[in-house]
Amino acid sequence: MTDSPPMTMFVPDFPFAYDDWLRHPGGLGALPEGRLGTEVAVIGGGVSGMTVAYELMKLGLRPVLYEGDQIGGRMRSIPFAADPGYVAEMGAMRFPAAASTLFHYIDALGLATKPFPNPLTPASSSTVVNFEGATHWATTDNDLPEEYQHVAEAWMKALNERAELQAIQAAIRARDVPVLRAVWSKIVKDFDDESLYGFLAGTAGFNSFRLREIFGQVGFGVGSWDTDFPSSALETLRIVCVAAGENQFSVVGGAQQIPRGLWNRVPARMAHWPSGTSVASLHEGTPLSTVASIARAGELFDITDVTGQTRTYPAVVFTPHLPTLLTTIDSDRALLSPAHWAAVERAHYLGASKLFVLTDRPFWLDVDTETGHETMGMTITDQLPRSVYLFDDGMHKPGVVCLSYTLNNDSRRLSTLTPDERVDTVLEKLRSIYPGVDIRSHLVGPPVAISWENEPHFGGAFRTSLPGHYRYQRRLFTHFRQDDFAPERRGFFLSGDDISWTPGFAEGAVMTGLNAVWGVLNHLGGRTHPGNPGPGDVFSSIAPVELPE
Ligand SMILES: Cc1cc2nc3c(=O)[nH]c(=O)nc-3n(C[C@H](O)[C@H](O)[C@H](O)COP(=O)(O)OP(=O)(O)OC[C@H]3O[C@@H](n4cnc5c(N)ncnc54)[C@H](O)[C@@H]3O)c2cc1C
Repeated sequence: MTDSPPMTMFVPDFPFAYDDWLRHPGGLGALPEGRLGTEVAVIGGGVSGMTVAYELMKLGLRPVLYEGDQIGGRMRSIPFAADPGYVAEMGAMRFPAAASTLFHYIDALGLATKPFPNPLTPASSSTVVNFEGATHWATTDNDLPEEYQHVAEAWMKALNERAELQAIQAAIRARDVPVLRAVWSKIVKDFDDESLYGFLAGTAGFNSFRLREIFGQVGFGVGSWDTDFPSSALETLRIVCVAAGENQFSVVGGAQQIPRGLWNRVPARMAHWPSGTSVASLHEGTPLSTVASIARAGELFDITDVTGQTRTYPAVVFTPHLPTLLTTIDSDRALLSPAHWAAVERAHYLGASKLFVLTDRPFWLDVDTETGHETMGMTITDQLPRSVYLFDDGMHKPGVVCLSYTLNNDSRRLSTLTPDERVDTVLEKLRSIYPGVDIRSHLVGPPVAISWENEPHFGGAFRTSLPGHYRYQRRLFTHFRQDDFAPERRGFFLSGDDISWTPGFAEGAVMTGLNAVWGVLNHLGGRTHPGNPGPGDVFSSIAPVELPE
């Protein structure tokens, strides 16, 4: 028997093998001699912007990075004041093994990873589900009450019967593009108008409210899903199909090392630049500041930052949250077509809050001799903390606890509180789940908290499509392919999590960054290697299905 090929985030809407494109010995392409050293503006130093800057440099261009906050963006690993050797992952914290494009960079940077302690996985020795006042301890699905197991089965049944999960995953593993496109196109047509809640309610296995409620509060895989109930069903179906919620890993020392690593990395091979060049060295160690305005000047772009400095570029890659084009940045309407502006205006975002503390040791692993349970487990609850994650580095070292990770309404409830007030609120709720456990006595130093909707350069955690948004999403994702655009619309490229098919997963931010790299290469007269076509070269054969306007 042969092993089946691994699952990868070979996204069915645009099944391009970005991982193979990166691995090809011929590289991503080449530019005409006269273009080498040309400056290209890259706005935003998150993982998408850093992928773009790094790959443009390798092609022999001069990326000029603008970053308004810190390199890392939504990969933000904050060292604890009491022991900076431990970090709180305020944004991205778990990466599926299927994220093969992101892992290309994680591996190249030599970063260590370890299994992420998701519920009911071996990395999380105990899982505690607390719903409507009842608490259940489990190490595997089989330990959960029958009702919960029934929900998990109903979900798998719904995915297979209504969304052809098995067929899609087999096609993804085999990278069978015709089959994948045929099956997925039908799903897009069937479910673009449907919310996740509507999808469940229309499924025989979820014909009772109680089952839908358990699904929302207790969930499957990485946790609860009620915050996604109003979103397009396609968002969840896509994530499940590409196995983004399974087999996840954290980056030892923090995810921010990925974008920072790309900033500092000296590639083994690159065009034009002397050996030893890095994106950081091209900037003498500091990116340019926050962008205040972007104006089109014929075929060129004038970018002015908050210091008042204006520079002119033949191409621009834009990676921040899309609404900043409408708010903090004075943006020329000529940058985008009216249809693209409409998609920017409609972009819908989830809020997210996280609260982290450092502990003296992983006290939660102490076994209570009376109950036989550990003191605490990875916790999923319908109460305000919603989810608690526990990270240990060994019994005699400090531990890290994500006391609460919340989205949307739950996030909003916490977002106006100070970090200390959040700790008070959350510990009060956890007391009902863990009576007699004095969590506070183990806390060391101040907590670290964030609500992404309060962050000035972000204004939300990540985009999610509402029912009927597929067309907007398609417009944004395909924006890198500009050959059909009028000349006065070319040269400005969108990139990043906001335009990805899988927002909330860094893999999509990297993939869209690589699309923008192809776009810039093409725009400046370059070509991909003949044996290694890029996403724009094969676009027409794998383009996302078009729904009638
Ligand atoms: C709470 C949370 C949890 C997440 N969990 C996961 C996870 O577990 N796994 C996973 O794979 N993904 C996760 N994600 C998603 C992941 O973080 C993103 O996909 C990825 O980091 C986005 O990278 P980006 O470069 O597209 O955008 P960003 O990281 O947002 O980068 C954009 C950058 O632009 C900068 N900027 C904004 N305005 C300006 C301006 N005017 N001028 C200059 N610069 C500007 C910002 O400061 C920012 O650094 C999570 C995200 C959040 C918020």
